Amino acid sequence: MAHSAVPSTPVTVAPISLSALAPWAVFVAVLTLVLLYFVGVEQGATAVFEGETIHEWLHDGRHLLGFPCH
Ligand SMILES: [Zn+2]
Repeated sequence: MAHSAVPSTPVTVAPISLSALAPWAVFVAVLTLVLLYFVGVEQGATAVFEGETIHEWLHDGRHLLGFPCH
């Protein structure tokens, strides 16, 4: 007997309020900015960490996104 992947009872989706969504939007925005910083600016005088390790790990992403590098 085959089982259907579609549930037989209808699924109801509760609406998400903006006040419940706002902290997650801020969290994702901060994560995005941190990631953009490390991909795009973490090098030389603006580097937070010493050495080239983080820059080298993210080097291909830097070129892929068109940030100036070398
Ligand atoms: Zn480069």
